[in-house]
Amino acid sequence: MDLYEYQGKELFKRVGIPVSNGRLAETPEEARTAAEEIGGAVVVKAQVLTGGRGKAGGVKLADDPADAEEKARNILGLDINGHIVRRLWIESASDIAKEYYLSIAFDRGAKQPLFMFTTQGGVEIEQVAEENPDALIRLHTDPLEGYQPWIARKLIYDAGVEDPSEQKQIAAIVEKLYRAFVEFDAMLCEINPLIVTPDGEVKALDSKFTVDDSALFRHPDVAEWRDTSAADPIEAFAREKGVTYVKLDGDVGICGNGAGLSMSTVDVVAHVGGKPANFCDLGGGGSAEGVVDALEVITRDPQVKSIFFNIFGGITRCDEVARGILEALERLDMSKYPIVVRLDGTNAEEGRRILQEAGKPNIYPEATMLEGAKRAVELAK
Ligand code: GDP
Ligand code: MN
Repeated sequence: MDLYEYQGKELFKRVGIPVSNGRLAETPEEARTAAEEIGGAVVVKAQVLTGGRGKAGGVKLADDPADAEEKARNILGLDINGHIVRRLWIESASDIAKEYYLSIAFDRGAKQPLFMFTTQGGVEIEQVAEENPDALIRLHTDPLEGYQPWIARKLIYDAGVEDPSEQKQIAAIVEKLYRAFVEFDAMLCEINPLIVTPDGEVKALDSKFTVDDSALFRHPDVAEWRDTSAADPIEAFAREKGVTYVKLDGDVGICGNGAGLSMSTVDVVAHVGGKPANFCDLGGGGSAEGVVDALEVITRDPQVKSIFFNIFGGITRCDEVARGILEALERLDMSKYPIVVRLDGTNAEEGRRILQEAGKPNIYPEATMLEGAKRAVELAK
């Protein structure tokens, strides 16, 4: 689960990483009130789950409350990489002397946390890695050893931070960021920029924080922060219905039983030149009700032109799936969708017979996964 900047900063605050005083606002009027309460110049920041907000015009300085209201009016509703701005974070504006970068990410390949630090912050880290790789200090650590003070010292010396006061403050922040990383089961904690003010104060000006979904049950207060309105509306609907669904960009709707078979189906459809519209897993049961729910989810996507059911019956019984498809045809308006059905395994023959006897003109039985995929791709054209 990706957190908004303001949520990540709340966690930073809990472990003692310095951040600016701020308030949340959802309207220009609230932005004005927030600026009044904070006092002085503020920065008005779009809260969206994507980077590059500054470049897209989603981060603006404001001199006073009236200016904050005006800037808020401009930023609310902006489309930043497909994310519409509905919330703003208003915080006390900082003077910036230097912009650094600090992150801890979980490196799956190395099975270890990876620290990254550079004095070339403020820009995207991929750009630093490409243009100035020597300036980007990378350091893996053993998760079982826990935090050791040499980690911060090595990062700081290798990156060439020379000011003793900066060194001391950054070392404290590295340790606290690691604590946040472990305590909140993070996959990523990133501060970009980590600034030094003209007075020599080091603080986090931005936050990117990803919490491991599998650990959310240990952090009910964080789990509650999930913003369902920001999720893809079809994916949100699928979650409501208990359907395992991931939206993709193509036009062939896909439904399999089991994650492995569903993923293979996505691959085979792509292999024969088609574009999958989604990943959808009926799960092990594959009850008629489950099939109806899955079809309801899949057909909410206006890009879907054809649907491919790829079922291998084990626990799932193919006759049950066939009945589910027919029931869905009764309950939903499915007449415009050609539905290719490949049934194999438990009760496959009975399932095929049920479909055949129903005599629906938009149901196309196919014997194999490959033939089914080809047919579904053809029918999507
Ligand atoms: P991002 O573009 O989504 O990464 O958003 P950031 O929060 O990192 O802000 C982008 C840039 O805006 C930063 O790199 C800063 O240069 C600038 N910025 C953000 N907050 C302030 C602030 O309080 N004062 C000043 N002067 N600049 C800021
Ligand atoms: Mn940033």
